[in-house]
Amino acid sequence: MDYTKLLQKAVVTSCSVSLFWKIIRHMWSSMNVEKEPVKVLVTGAAGQTGYALMPMIARGVMLGPDQPVIIHMLDTKKAAETLNGLKMELIDGAFRLLRGVVATTDVVEACRDVNIAVMLGGKPRKDGMERKDVMTMNVSIYKAQALALAQHAAADCKVLVVANPANTNALILKESAPSIPEKNITCLMRLDHNRAMGQIAEKLKVRVSDVKNIIIWGNHSSTQYPDVNHATVATSSGERSVRDLIADDKWLNTEFITTVQQRGAAILKARKFSSALSAASAVCDHMHHWLLGTPKGTWVSMGVCSDGSYGIQPGLIYSFPVTCKNGQWSIVRGLKIDEFSRAKMDATANELIEEKSLAYSCLG
Ligand code: NDP
Repeated sequence: MDYTKLLQKAVVTSCSVSLFWKIIRHMWSSMNVEKEPVKVLVTGAAGQTGYALMPMIARGVMLGPDQPVIIHMLDTKKAAETLNGLKMELIDGAFRLLRGVVATTDVVEACRDVNIAVMLGGKPRKDGMERKDVMTMNVSIYKAQALALAQHAAADCKVLVVANPANTNALILKESAPSIPEKNITCLMRLDHNRAMGQIAEKLKVRVSDVKNIIIWGNHSSTQYPDVNHATVATSSGERSVRDLIADDKWLNTEFITTVQQRGAAILKARKFSSALSAASAVCDHMHHWLLGTPKGTWVSMGVCSDGSYGIQPGLIYSFPVTCKNGQWSIVRGLKIDEFSRAKMDATANELIEEKSLAYSCLG
């Protein structure tokens, strides 16, 4: 292709700016210039979710098929050997996009210059433990890791907290590292969002990709509120409301909600381990849409810092419907909230307020 002539044509005829950029993009891609690798930190990498997540990141599921990555894996000293085994497997996977692997138990080395941080690391509640004991361990982990991220990560590092209690861990991270913009700190609600989409698709026997605009409001816990009032399904006769198609408000207001709320417990009971594959896939969906944008007319659920929208206490990390563009999320405004939804949204907000004061008391 003669680019000079094409460029002259675009400029001389003042033909559209878009043609000009199309040519520049074509020239760029045909020059085969490789993108700079993105450094992705995964804490708690030696755990169940880490094992499912790592090949997805290395294959471009999270950041796209042309985005090289360097993976930083952090875990505890106890898990160092497992982490090393995982590093060996990543090398053996010969992943085309993988440009390097750091496996470490040193939080500073792990956080150095990372662009993305996926926080899986945390302590689960074990038999005989009080809720406060688990909270104490987790808030101190998140306080320490917040400081390491603030000091050593790239300036615009985007953080996704997955480890439970995910919303409150993210809140502690945000409050312990005020230098990290609060817009860059989120928690994972996408698994709940995907679970709700899956339930609707199963009920209607449609493709899950045809279902959109479900909302999960609130906490990643059994008080979360899966809301289908604005959700639609693509049909041969256009977009139809989920509520109209299902035509069973009783099911939608009871069984559907509890199934989504209790799905994690059901999987734990069946597998004897908590969700890992679906959690890893949801982590990729969350980061993919945050960084590369949500499709036009579609929103997703993310745990983000409340600005007071929908009457939710400002500063809480609460799940809202968001759209994403140019690496920034925005809460979807102006959705009509009925009385039923209002009560459920407030109940889950109240649980988060209570978790926040417990977390503060653990910090001392
Ligand atoms: P695992 O227990 O298998 O893995 C957690 C890992 O974190 C362990 O290897 C643990 O090491 C490590 N860890 C503990 N403390 C630290 C620390 N200070 N720094 C780095 N690593 C640490 O859990 P899963 O992979 O199954 O799940 C990860 C987390 O994600 C859990 O908290 C889980 O509840 C949560 N989760 C959240 C979901 C959501 O939708 N928000 C969905 C699914 C899971 P060690 O064993 O030595 O303590």
